Amino acid sequence: MPGKVVTVKRRAKLGWLERTYIPMVVKSLVTTSRHFFRNMRGFLTGKNLTFVVQYPEQTLDYADAFRGMPVLVGLDNGNPKCVACGLCEFACPTDCISIVPGELESAGIERYPEVFDIDMSRCMFCGLCEEACPEEAIVMSRETEIAGFDRKSLMFHKEDLLVPDTLLKRRLEFLRSEYDREHAPRASKS
Ligand code: SF4
Ligand code: SF4
Repeated sequence: MPGKVVTVKRRAKLGWLERTYIPMVVKSLVTTSRHFFRNMRGFLTGKNLTFVVQYPEQTLDYADAFRGMPVLVGLDNGNPKCVACGLCEFACPTDCISIVPGELESAGIERYPEVFDIDMSRCMFCGLCEEACPEEAIVMSRETEIAGFDRKSLMFHKEDLLVPDTLLKRRLEFLRSEYDREHAPRASKS
């Protein structure tokens, strides 16, 4: 199902009180104070501490719509589902995807990515590569722990990006419902 469009009604003219921003400042202070005192009470009484996540020992279960690092969907035989069509490379606004296509003579899949690199120092997690892909071969994962001491270490190659499709089930199902896709997953070929 496509995303819901929300029309925001903006008043053309603000009253004098609104133009001083005082009501909005007071409102935000009330909200901040409410959270502060609620959390403080939870901290002192030891109750209702669910708002604290002891990262990195604990992590949150992100929503299915969450966009983490883009990864390549792996087939059962360990090969990427990608057919190196280059659409994601074309769609990427930061030019961080580099693909070198190759051809498989024996298998049913004619094209495959000989090289598939993503420069994660440039990726902005927009998800356009995922939207552009006709094969459901690149999806946004839940991976967020991407760090390095230099730019070179943030260059992810095909082998680093491959994730078995069984681990990406939730995201793939979300995409199919979100975009009304009736996409039968391609069977593994050796
Ligand atoms: S998420 Fe956006 S910026 Fe990152 S690789 Fe995909 S298209 Fe490029
Ligand atoms: S990931 Fe998808 S869009 Fe990108 S090259 Fe492979 S098949 Fe084409």
